[in-house]
Amino acid sequence: MSASGPDRYAVAGNPVAHSQSPTIHAQFAAQTGQDLVYERLLCPLDAFLPTVQAFAAAGAKGCNVTVPFKFEAFAAARRRSPRAELAGAVNTLRFDEQGWWGDNTDGLGLVRDIQSNASQPLAGLRLLLLGAGGAAAGVLGSLIAARPAELTVANRSADRALALVGSHARWAQEHDVRLQASTLEDLPEARFDVLVNGTSASLAGAGVPVRGQVLREGGLGVDMMYGPAAQGFLDWVAAQGARPRDGLGMLVEQAAEAFQLWRGVRPDTAPVLAGLRRQLTAKD
Ligand code: NDP
Repeated sequence: MSASGPDRYAVAGNPVAHSQSPTIHAQFAAQTGQDLVYERLLCPLDAFLPTVQAFAAAGAKGCNVTVPFKFEAFAAARRRSPRAELAGAVNTLRFDEQGWWGDNTDGLGLVRDIQSNASQPLAGLRLLLLGAGGAAAGVLGSLIAARPAELTVANRSADRALALVGSHARWAQEHDVRLQASTLEDLPEARFDVLVNGTSASLAGAGVPVRGQVLREGGLGVDMMYGPAAQGFLDWVAAQGARPRDGLGMLVEQAAEAFQLWRGVRPDTAPVLAGLRRQLTAKD
């Protein structure tokens, strides 16, 4: 805490009203005895940087960055972690005096949720990642590091999928992963063991971004979205005979990693995830 009160953090994005991050960080703070407040920072679509600069100038210590500003946050960071460099996208900023530090905790959050919370090892499997925006870019490096046999990135705009695959080609080679790009229309039938939806189609209410059976029966289908907006996708996964999982676990795990970066202590994620899950179920 500073003389002017508790340290301030926020989630910066558009929209942010749906974000559970303030609840999560408040619980992490209570659990670890850290004196901080965590707010929502709605940034106009054409004014991400000035909005975050004003927040920092007011004494804030850092922020998470969500849709659609992760690339702008990357550009705004003067220094970045290796995983943020690989992603080309930043979801966590720390307002250091010597220049903003940019990190990306999305990938670690997703992989930890799949492998630890959902007990689904990824090594040797066939993975499909939908999307090539900031969220997909943020998780691709960590998915590769989990050493699946193959990983297909499919996106509405095929050129963005190709670019993402290109920027991760060497990383994939180093990890012995067959990495390829695809359009959303050209996906093979029932091929994938694990599908991760990193598009904002659910958030936009646009429904499932692929047609037909792409997941094998018994596979796992994860939407990075959570709450009522994710339900259509999760129902579609279940209808394919696969296990649905929303993005709540990823959200809590990436938040814990950001919290550790800011505060130097790692909170316990399990009770926070269980509490959020109860809260969301009670609202349905
Ligand atoms: P971006 O705006 O950077 O990218 C959006 C992506 O979604 C692009 O690949 C875009 O394709 C695609 N897309 C948008 N609308 C459609 C549609 N109707 N059909 C098919 N594809 C579509 O957003 P982000 O990558 O930052 O975020 C994506 C989602 O992930 C959001 O819902 C966000 O809330 C969620 N998220 C959740 C996290 C968690 O912790 N659970 C963490 C990070 C993100 P195109 O390139 O063709 O435009």
